[in-house]
Amino acid sequence: MTDLIQKTQSAYSYPLLIKNLLYSPVADNPQQQIIYRGEQTFSYQEFRQRVCRLANALSALGVKRGDTVAVMDWDSHRYLECFFAIPMIGAVLHTVNIKLSPEQILYTINHAEDDYILVNEEFLPLIEQIRGRIDMVKGYMVLQDSPKEISTSVPLVGEYEKLLETADDSFDFPDFDENTRATTFYTTGTTGMPKGVFFSHRQLVLHTLGTLAALSSAGKQGRFHKNDVYMPITPMFHVHAWGFPYIATFVGVKQVYPGKYAPAKLLQLIKDEEVTFSHCVPTILHMLMNDPAFNDLDLSNWKVVIGGAAMPKGLCRLFLQKGADIFSGYGMSETCPVLTLAQIDEEDLSEDQEVNLRCKTGRSLPLVDIRIVDNDMNDVKNDGNAVGELVVRAPWLTQAYLKDKRNSEVLWEGGYLHTGDVANRDARGYISITDRIKDVIKIGGEWVSSLELEDVISVHESVSEVAVIGSPDDKWGERPLALVVTKNEVTDKEIIKHVQGFVDKGLLTKQALLVRVKFVGEIDKTSVGKMNKKLLREKHL
Ligand code: AMP
Repeated sequence: MTDLIQKTQSAYSYPLLIKNLLYSPVADNPQQQIIYRGEQTFSYQEFRQRVCRLANALSALGVKRGDTVAVMDWDSHRYLECFFAIPMIGAVLHTVNIKLSPEQILYTINHAEDDYILVNEEFLPLIEQIRGRIDMVKGYMVLQDSPKEISTSVPLVGEYEKLLETADDSFDFPDFDENTRATTFYTTGTTGMPKGVFFSHRQLVLHTLGTLAALSSAGKQGRFHKNDVYMPITPMFHVHAWGFPYIATFVGVKQVYPGKYAPAKLLQLIKDEEVTFSHCVPTILHMLMNDPAFNDLDLSNWKVVIGGAAMPKGLCRLFLQKGADIFSGYGMSETCPVLTLAQIDEEDLSEDQEVNLRCKTGRSLPLVDIRIVDNDMNDVKNDGNAVGELVVRAPWLTQAYLKDKRNSEVLWEGGYLHTGDVANRDARGYISITDRIKDVIKIGGEWVSSLELEDVISVHESVSEVAVIGSPDDKWGERPLALVVTKNEVTDKEIIKHVQGFVDKGLLTKQALLVRVKFVGEIDKTSVGKMNKKLLREKHL
């Protein structure tokens, strides 16, 4: 038996390390471009050299294997360099969510035990505010778009560009165990302090390959390929910008990093750099739509994955009419993140059928084992109706919450990662998330989906945005409250009549008619632009 597994002395058992993602793109297309805000351009060859320079600069500062290096920056070529250089020297990249409150940022820096922080000069005042309470950080490196004198009480070890300039442009990145931790960051949950998740080299490489396999095997639309031009519109601190910077680099496409998100700048970059592939949360699309430059923009070459929250049908229809190839993706901080994509294989679908499929949560990626289960972990029927919790196994799920045994055990109860999402799956494998477990509205014992009701109300022509929450009710236990931002004048009766139309067609349960409507000026959002239902409940109930 042992004979069968013998190997030679010199065989190389290739570890799945992030450095290996760089071999082919740099070798095949060294002149391909990486662009920052339309202002600076780097070739892949230069990018590779800058990764080496950064590795040398960090090593010279004393960063060693196992250290944690935090980054606080807008989406930039520098951030992409950190995505590679920091894990490639065996350190852990902590992508700090700069949209959290100062207290939460302080908590994450101390909890992750950051050793060094690379900080954009814009966030130095924030560091000044919390520095007295930061535990372990040994050095701060400042990041600037253009070098100028800075006055700050933060003791800086140097400026990024200057340190790179004097560093050597080659580095012999070592091999090590592929299970070494590569990244860490914190969930943006709305309850309690953020929870840390973490991913290994192996997990990030497999996530890159798995997501790319799904994207590149798409039958009809939503395909990512070598001629695409990629620009993230999900921040790089949020779940590795959904892993796409690794995928884009691996494929060797032109990449565009937009800096701090401003709608006019994003639209200008899409146009000038001929961006063909992006991803974002629905809120960002709202921002883009409201910019004056939007109307004249040709989006017929733009593919965009919408995730982080369900895509409202009204929004999908509007972008399809603009020519964009818009479709859903799903995942969470705990899952690296991508688990599903809503791609279409069939030809000759009506616009309504297209919109329905694109707004579904999608089908599982290769290697992803998704189950929809009841409270006893029994699978519910794949009939497109029966709902249960979505639980999952995949090679790229966080194995625990950082230093949090109790929550880790709850997360992985029964050997599957519990997403806390309620979903159904149809016979073709399309999953639809109908709610978060904690957001489901329980009307007289029946579970009513807040997302479905939001979806219906969102397509009313006078509605700009809507959030539905459950409000306590003596008779029913709970009934839905729709918080509505309007585009033009409309009454609550008109909205309820619109809901009635869907109930009459059998598309919504009649319990939905218990909805009450409240007009509001805005819908509160979390740090990553999702509806903050906890805050909405606090404010409006
Ligand atoms: P986060 O960890 O902040 O990325 O949030 C993850 C959560 O966002 C998931 O558990 C879902 O509740 C929600 N989510 C992400 N993508 C989708 C989607 N396509 N449709 C509905 N909900 C989504």
